[in-house]
Amino acid sequence: NTFAEIDLGEALNQNIRRCKYVKPTPVQRHAIPISLAGRDLMACAQTGSGKTAAFCFPIISGIMSGQGVQRPSHMPRMSFPLALILSPTRELSCQIHEEAKKFAYQTGVRVVVAYGGAPINQQLRDLERGVDILVATPGRLVDLLERARLSLQMIRYLALDEADRMLDMGFEPQIRKIVQQMDMPPPGIRQTMLFSATFPKEIQRLASDFLANYIFLAV
Ligand code: AMP
Repeated sequence: NTFAEIDLGEALNQNIRRCKYVKPTPVQRHAIPISLAGRDLMACAQTGSGKTAAFCFPIISGIMSGQGVQRPSHMPRMSFPLALILSPTRELSCQIHEEAKKFAYQTGVRVVVAYGGAPINQQLRDLERGVDILVATPGRLVDLLERARLSLQMIRYLALDEADRMLDMGFEPQIRKIVQQMDMPPPGIRQTMLFSATFPKEIQRLASDFLANYIFLAV
């Protein structure tokens, strides 16, 4: 069981080799094929399980196979990411950003990070230069949306990382506001992955509100 056996595309496979990943971890072995098949997913995953790659690989692979997707051109200063990865903290967002950049190396897929507690202007400039995957904390993302320089209407992939921690930190209203801004033209266009270490009622409610016909993965 190796990454070479999973159809992620040559550029991504080369980056995986460069990262010295040979064998998928259990969460990767199950989550990646489910996502590549287009299904929504709720997965039980602890820190250190390899969950970052589990949601990044299908997102990067999906964006690469849809490359050339047209963004609305009548709003030149507005950013239209195709994927959003929400995470609870600045540290985790930066970590995901660093990993995602390695995975996306030379694929043409652009990754930007935005978190609170740092000047927003640099983040606005990063977005304006072009973004396919946005990694963000919920509070800062709401700020960016309120400035009308970022649109979530083209989001095709949504990953919620450490969802239980985001709820513990009180981010549920922000998360709901964010997801409400995503257009879902014909059903099933947006693919959603929810990762959490625990599954209290609140997480199950988020899953039933945001995910469609999802697979629950406990490894
Ligand atoms: P994560 O749970 O995503 O924070 O990953 C934990 C650590 O394991 C990170 O340092 C990853 O770079 C590493 N890692 C993830 N997947 C693999 C893999 N398939 N093989 C080797 N290392 C990995």
